[in-house]
Amino acid sequence: MFPKTADIVIIGGGVMGASAAYHLAARGQKNILLLEKEEFFGQGATGRCAGGVRYQFSTEINVRLSLKSLPMLERFKEETGQEIGYRKCGYLFALTKPDDVENFRRNVELQRRLGVQTEWLTGDEVRRRLPLMRFDDALAGTFNPADGLVDPNSVVMGYIGAAQRMGVRALTGAAVTGLKVEGSQVTGVETNQGTVATRTVVNAAGPWAGLIARMAGVALPLTPLRRQMLTTTPLPELPADFPFVIDFAQSLYFHREGQGLLTGMSNPNEKTGFDQNVDEAFELVNLEAAIARMPLLEKAGLASHWAGLYEVTPDAHPIYGPTPVEGFTIVTGFSGHGFMHGPVSGKLMAEIILDGKSRTVDVSMLDLARFEEGRLIKEYNVV
Ligand SMILES: Cc1cc2nc3c(=O)[nH]c(=O)nc-3n(C[C@H](O)[C@H](O)[C@H](O)COP(=O)(O)OP(=O)(O)OC[C@H]3O[C@@H](n4cnc5c(N)ncnc54)[C@H](O)[C@@H]3O)c2cc1C
Repeated sequence: MFPKTADIVIIGGGVMGASAAYHLAARGQKNILLLEKEEFFGQGATGRCAGGVRYQFSTEINVRLSLKSLPMLERFKEETGQEIGYRKCGYLFALTKPDDVENFRRNVELQRRLGVQTEWLTGDEVRRRLPLMRFDDALAGTFNPADGLVDPNSVVMGYIGAAQRMGVRALTGAAVTGLKVEGSQVTGVETNQGTVATRTVVNAAGPWAGLIARMAGVALPLTPLRRQMLTTTPLPELPADFPFVIDFAQSLYFHREGQGLLTGMSNPNEKTGFDQNVDEAFELVNLEAAIARMPLLEKAGLASHWAGLYEVTPDAHPIYGPTPVEGFTIVTGFSGHGFMHGPVSGKLMAEIILDGKSRTVDVSMLDLARFEEGRLIKEYNVV
């Protein structure tokens, strides 16, 4: 039976909703309802993501979020009982443009000041570390051995399973169709299964969060943007410790996936929207660029490919916390790296809802009001 009331309703069963449900329940909160429109949890951006986790960022707040979130992934099995396959293969950013070299020097200084020991590589070191790749034009690079890969679905299922054991009701096939607002207070959530009365709603609907917000009359500056990737058939030449390689200037990336390779590339001409079909013309562009960097790929076959949606904000940073509608809170807008910040973000949402403010990391500057008030996060934040 669909519940008539809930103390907290969380919309969205991706990493954000799952982590928020778990952390609220772990704080002793009762009567939590998690609603997911699909037949399974984690079928949105989370299940389609590359699973990359890293400390290397260009803003202080993102580094601080990683400093809390990645250790939570390290402790994940202890905390939830779920194995998540954390592989510390390191992220290697290869830099081929002088401007990028300058910017990454500042990023590495920022990271080191915050306690993240990213290594600086010369162009020759980049080439030496990547003998299977052609990086004749690499001017420099950065490498952090603590960065790596984690299985996204295991994280979602680990949090949801643990939340359910603490009493959270988590429903699939439950699509939110409307929000009830009385005066300026949220009072209920309408779904295809019935209506639930509540005074607290967490909008964790990822790329669809703007549609949910609109149901409460709230405008979110959030854009869904397609990104896609492909995996290859086995490549026995690939070493087990092959890093997550990013050819920064081309937004082209590679990492080991099973016995083969995963590669993806950002399409600078991608139009915004909810289309999640693979753009096969752009896939060829991706493949050509990938083969130019790694000629070995010429002999690999396509194993699988898929597309998903980034949830992008104007300053490429997330939005946490309240909206003009009382009781209606948001956690979204991670702009391409929300999976790795999912663990700490759920914890922060529990703090914002139960304590009135974020404590583990101060994310008060990442509020919705910043867009109207012109307090956007600047990309390079070195003091
Ligand atoms: C191709 C790709 C690669 C990526 N790679 C990385 C990476 O390497 N590392 C990283 O950290 N991040 C990566 N990301 C970003 C990351 O996937 C997202 O930032 C993160 O997963 C967002 O989680 P979420 O829970 O907010 O959204 P989602 O996982 O999309 O969850 C939202 C859920 O809400 C549900 N929902 C929507 N509308 C409704 C409704 N009306 N009623 C009920 N439920 C609803 C959806 O079905 C969905 O399950 C990548 C993203 C993509 C697309």
